[in-house]
Amino acid sequence: QVVTRFAPSPTGYLHIGGARTALFNWLYARHHGGRVLLRIEDTDRKRSTQDAIDKIIEGLDWLGLDFDDAPMFQSDRAERHAEVAHQLLAAGHAYKCFATPEELEAMREQQRAAKLPLRYDRRWRDRDPSEAPAGAPYVIRLKVPTGGATTIDDAVQGRITVQNNEIDDYILLRSDGTPTYMLAVVVDDHDMGVTHIIRGDDHINNAFRQLPIIRAMNAIEGNWPDPVYAHVPLIHGPDGAKMSKRHGAVGVEAYRDQEGVLPEALFNYLLRLGWGHGDREEITKEEAVELFDLDGVGKGPARFDIKKLQNLNGHYIREADDRRLALIVAEKIGPKADADLLTKAMPVLKLRAKSTNELAEGAAFLFAKRPLAMTEKAAELLDDNARELLSGLSKMLHLQNDWTIEGLEATTKSYAETLGLGLGKLAQPMRAALTGTTTSPGIFDVLVLLGRDEALARIDAQAR
Ligand code: GLU
Repeated sequence: QVVTRFAPSPTGYLHIGGARTALFNWLYARHHGGRVLLRIEDTDRKRSTQDAIDKIIEGLDWLGLDFDDAPMFQSDRAERHAEVAHQLLAAGHAYKCFATPEELEAMREQQRAAKLPLRYDRRWRDRDPSEAPAGAPYVIRLKVPTGGATTIDDAVQGRITVQNNEIDDYILLRSDGTPTYMLAVVVDDHDMGVTHIIRGDDHINNAFRQLPIIRAMNAIEGNWPDPVYAHVPLIHGPDGAKMSKRHGAVGVEAYRDQEGVLPEALFNYLLRLGWGHGDREEITKEEAVELFDLDGVGKGPARFDIKKLQNLNGHYIREADDRRLALIVAEKIGPKADADLLTKAMPVLKLRAKSTNELAEGAAFLFAKRPLAMTEKAAELLDDNARELLSGLSKMLHLQNDWTIEGLEATTKSYAETLGLGLGKLAQPMRAALTGTTTSPGIFDVLVLLGRDEALARIDAQAR
C-alpha cells in the first residue's frame, strides 16, 4: 500500500511551496488508494512555534487536505531516534567521534587553506574509542561507505548518481544525546511506513545522505526498503528567482485573506504549478484524484503567476454556491453586512469578480449609509444636467408599483425615449446616485437589490 507524508518544519507559515508538496503527497496517496500522513518536524525547538503549527494545520484543512492519522510530532520521538543510532553503532555502521569543536575548527581551517571541501575527515572512523580520555563527550557518526556510488531513480528527476566519497560521515546523535534532523527523518519515515517521499528538490542532497542509514538498518533488520523518491522542482517567482516573501503573499491564509482566493482555486492552481495533464487548466479535486500521477510532474521549476491564480479564482467564484460566497463576503465586510441580501445579490455580483475581495467591494453599495460617499468620477458625473434627469426619473419611479427588473426597465426606457436619450445616458447618473461609483451590477439589479425605499431615497438625494 502507498503511504506518503507531508513533513513541514513549523518555523513559519504554510507557504505556497509547502502547500504544493502537501497537495502532491495527498493526491498521490488518494489516487493510489493509499494513506497520507502528517509529521510536524519540530525538533528545532528554538524556531518551532505553536502558532506556526496551528497555521499549518489550519491551512491544510482550508485547502481540503485531510490526513489519515493524527499528526506525528517529531520531538516526541527523540528516544526512538537515539535507539536507532545505538543500533547502528552496535552493528558497526556508526562510530563514536570524540573530536572537540576546537579540533574540528582547526581541521576546517586547514581545508580552507588547501582549498579543499570542508568535510569531516573521518578521523575517528577507525580509531579505538578507548583512545579518548575517560568520560570525554562524543557524537555518533554514520559510517558512510567510502567506495562506489549511490544511485537514485527519482520519480521526477530521473536517475541521479553521487559518488559515495562525496558524502561525509555526518552526525546522527549529538553529544547531548539528541538526534540530528537527518536521523530523525529516516527513522520516522520508516516507522510511519512511508513508501513514497515526495518533497522539494532542495532535499535531493539529503536523500543521498539518508539512504545510507536506510540501507544500514536494512542490513541489520531486513525490513527497511528504499523508499521511492520524487523530488519536485521548487516554485520560482515571476522574475525567475526562487519564490520568497518578496514575491507577495507568504502563507496560504494570506491568499485567502489578502488575495480573496477560494480554497478550490488555490488547490487547482497549486496542482497546475508543476503538474500537467495536456493543456487543461481547470481541474476539480475529484478529477485531480483520478488523474494525478508522478509522471505528470515537470522537471523544470514552475513559475508562480498570480494572474493565472486570479483567473482560476474567478472561474471557481462563478461555480461556487451563492450562500457560501455570501458568508465569506459578509465576514469581510463586517457587522453591517446582511448575508441574506448578499446571497440575493451574489448571482450578479459574481459575474466578473476575480476575488472574494472584489465581491466585497462590489457589494459595498448595498450597505452604504446616506449621504453616500462618492468616488471622484461619480461626483463628476452628477452635474446639473444629470441631476435634472434624475429628478424627472424620480417622479416616474415614485409612481412605480411593479418594482421588478422588467417593470423598472420598461419605465426607465420609456422615460429615456421621451427625452430622446439612450439608456446609457440615464444609467450612468443613476449608477452614481445609487452606488456612489461608476461601476456596479446592472442598474435594474441595483434598484431591486436596494429595494424601493432606499433606492428612491438615494436618487432623491441627488435629484433637484
Ligand atoms: N521538514 C522538511 C522541510 O520542511 C521536510 C523534510 C522532508 O520532507 O524530508 O523542508
